[in-house]
Amino acid sequence: MAKKTIAIIAHDGKKADMVSFVRDHIDIIEQYNIIATGTTGGHIENAGLPVQKKLSGPMGGDAQIAADIVEGSIDALIFLRDPLGKHPHDPDINMLMRICDVHNIPIATNMATAELIIKSLIRDDLGIS
Ligand code: PGA
Repeated sequence: MAKKTIAIIAHDGKKADMVSFVRDHIDIIEQYNIIATGTTGGHIENAGLPVQKKLSGPMGGDAQIAADIVEGSIDALIFLRDPLGKHPHDPDINMLMRICDVHNIPIATNMATAELIIKSLIRDDLGIS
């Protein structure tokens, strides 16, 4: 079976949480293809995982990941948004979440759901019900 692909995006206020998440679950996450927005991807690489990097979010990286979802090449999105921040690319962020809903792609916007999603993916892949 083809390796599944997880997209990861973290806003600046959530990058430290994202790095802890990746380190805490590296044994699971390393079993998937990872794609990420530019700066988020750099942090994941520094944590020791290969990652396909898109442009930085404000430069269109979220839109590139949305396009990949439309094309059917992404199985889940972990999108650690900073709910307290204002972002120049808010329209892209809303578009990305809408695209996940249109294509029924699981999306986690906080650590609790991110954990549920990756645990569910690995259980599925190991055939554990
Ligand atoms: P970044 O983009 O990973 O390049 O910082 C994330 C975002 O703000 O959408």
